[in-house]
Amino acid sequence: MVKKEEIEEVIKILRANVPPHPYKSRDPFKVLIATVISQRTKDEVTYTVAEKLFEKYPSPRALKNAPTEEIAHLIYPAGFYKQKAKKIKEIAKIIDEEYGGRVPDNIEELLKLPGVGRKTANIVLSRCYDKDVIAVDVHVHRISNRLGWVTTKTPEETENALMKILPKRYWKDINELLVMFGRTICRPMAPRCDICPVKNYCKYYKENKKW
Ligand code: SF4
Repeated sequence: MVKKEEIEEVIKILRANVPPHPYKSRDPFKVLIATVISQRTKDEVTYTVAEKLFEKYPSPRALKNAPTEEIAHLIYPAGFYKQKAKKIKEIAKIIDEEYGGRVPDNIEELLKLPGVGRKTANIVLSRCYDKDVIAVDVHVHRISNRLGWVTTKTPEETENALMKILPKRYWKDINELLVMFGRTICRPMAPRCDICPVKNYCKYYKENKKW
């Protein structure tokens, strides 16, 4: 099992070497909708189309009254833009009518929203409500396994396993850190192990060392 001190050292090195996350908003509604748009979509596309959408429809009430076709048009070329447009409109309606325009700050209520799973809910809770939760997406799942922090098959298992070994003070920030590390160096295909600043701590590197 990896020692806590080693995990802390890796996080310290990554914080010094990984670029900051480009999406700065901490507005729960914007982060929620941007995360829905981000599913199976490149970041450059996600943030550009999300901003276009919020420029025209900046609140749940405005968005719930927007024509679905126009939402789809604004978020194109995000993947599955037509299905996402419907979900975004439904979410906006529920938040406006059932929650008084305020995105819920607990996982139970967030998970009731259409198209919202644990990852999206935990991103909103950690980024916007400062809650100590771990948002596990494909990057966090893959990198935690490569580093040897966990040995898991699904993001849910990774979330549970990380909660046991990762000191709580890192929970809310680990997603943004590993997402940016995963986009720049520890990529899904062909990770850049040759330039990786934490390769000496990495299980995958030790097992596959060819450089
Ligand atoms: S050494 Fe390679 S696999 Fe390991 S963390 Fe770095 S980039 Fe990822």
